[in-house]
Amino acid sequence: MCKKASDKMKYIADLHTHSKYAGACSDKLTLENMASSASQKGISILGTGDFTHPLWFNEIKSKLHSKGNGVYHLERQEVNFILTTEVSIIFSTGSGNPSLFSRDANNKKIHNCIMAPNIEVAEQINERLSKFGDLKLDGRPVLTISAAHLVELMHGIDKDIIVYPAHIWTPWFGAFGSLSGFDSMKDAYEDQEMHIHALETGLSSDPSMNWRVSSLDKYSLLSGSDAHSLEKLGREVTIFDMKNVSYFDIQNLIKNKNVDSTIEFYPEEGKYHYDGHRRCNISISPEDAKKYNNICPVCRKKLTIGVLHRVEDLADREPGYKPKNVSPYIHAIPLREIIAEANSKGINTLSVKTKYDELINNLGTELFILTDCKIEKIMQIDENVGNAIRNVRNGEVNISPGYDGVFGVIDVMNKNPIKKKGMQRTMRDF
Ligand SMILES: [Zn+2]
Ligand SMILES: [Zn+2]
Ligand SMILES: [Zn+2]
Repeated sequence: MCKKASDKMKYIADLHTHSKYAGACSDKLTLENMASSASQKGISILGTGDFTHPLWFNEIKSKLHSKGNGVYHLERQEVNFILTTEVSIIFSTGSGNPSLFSRDANNKKIHNCIMAPNIEVAEQINERLSKFGDLKLDGRPVLTISAAHLVELMHGIDKDIIVYPAHIWTPWFGAFGSLSGFDSMKDAYEDQEMHIHALETGLSSDPSMNWRVSSLDKYSLLSGSDAHSLEKLGREVTIFDMKNVSYFDIQNLIKNKNVDSTIEFYPEEGKYHYDGHRRCNISISPEDAKKYNNICPVCRKKLTIGVLHRVEDLADREPGYKPKNVSPYIHAIPLREIIAEANSKGINTLSVKTKYDELINNLGTELFILTDCKIEKIMQIDENVGNAIRNVRNGEVNISPGYDGVFGVIDVMNKNPIKKKGMQRTMRDF
């Protein structure tokens, strides 16, 4: 972040996070570790994640101090915290009871992000939601409640609570997911849809894919890391332009579709971009999947239909269409991945860690290095990494798309670059 003439500043926010209490999450995800990892990465606003979990909420209450305006911080730490959580809701649009395991078309499962303006409101949310599921079981609890009822309930507690659907395109838990989602936001949220002002695009889609669906034009498109480990914090972020960090300013920017910009994964790198079958080693484009009637050519069962396919199904515009008044975005790849790839080392090796620390200690935060640091300066520390970051910034990378839970593979040093279409820009203000 840095001062501009208008005396506003650009604040990088990662609002979709999890604690050590959420399923499959690292026990290193403590408030202290999250804050120090965030400052290394250049994130100045961090969601607490998981405030619905009783033990995590106790830590939030005992460790975070209010700065006013819905913003909290740890003692002697710069990073700003905002109260956030994610809930996994399950409900049926038919007459039967919803089941976690049923593939019944009426069975709906949607992940929703919730933001609260202060600890007192979060406390009320927890009390209400505890009637719909066991909040102790998981930092991201499973609740038996419809999407409309959830929004209505939140709105009834406090009008400043923000609810928005998480990673909307993912097959199992996205509002538009192929397996248990809907075809429109109105269908998903019914008469409460008017209170939804934002959508999370998720790792497997980027804004330009969402621009192809005209009914989504009115929503702010948000990005968050959904990190299950410290290393993955900030892999996607949303940037807000404000005078000071304030929950209410963030709320207004979201409501008025005035998000500054987002930093995104290459959507092909996401785990559900293409169609496919993990067990059968099948990864295919939506076009090819349609040729096979969405049936796996190996096991003859239904393919897991990915994000691109769902976007194609719901799109009423051609690829590349850009609506008016949309926030810009850039693609980035986490620095550790780039170092590992560029020097053909495993991502968890000591040599990658040493190089990562060297780059951060000499050049600045991870997001600055990825988006705005002079390539020559990076080259002075590591020529391969410098070249790789230039390729990533220019969209000159080879990508084999992710599918059915398998991350895509990005070749950052590619010999035969495929020029990716995107809206690359340098963000001088980082
Ligand atoms: Zn989720
Ligand atoms: Zn999540
Ligand atoms: Zn198969």
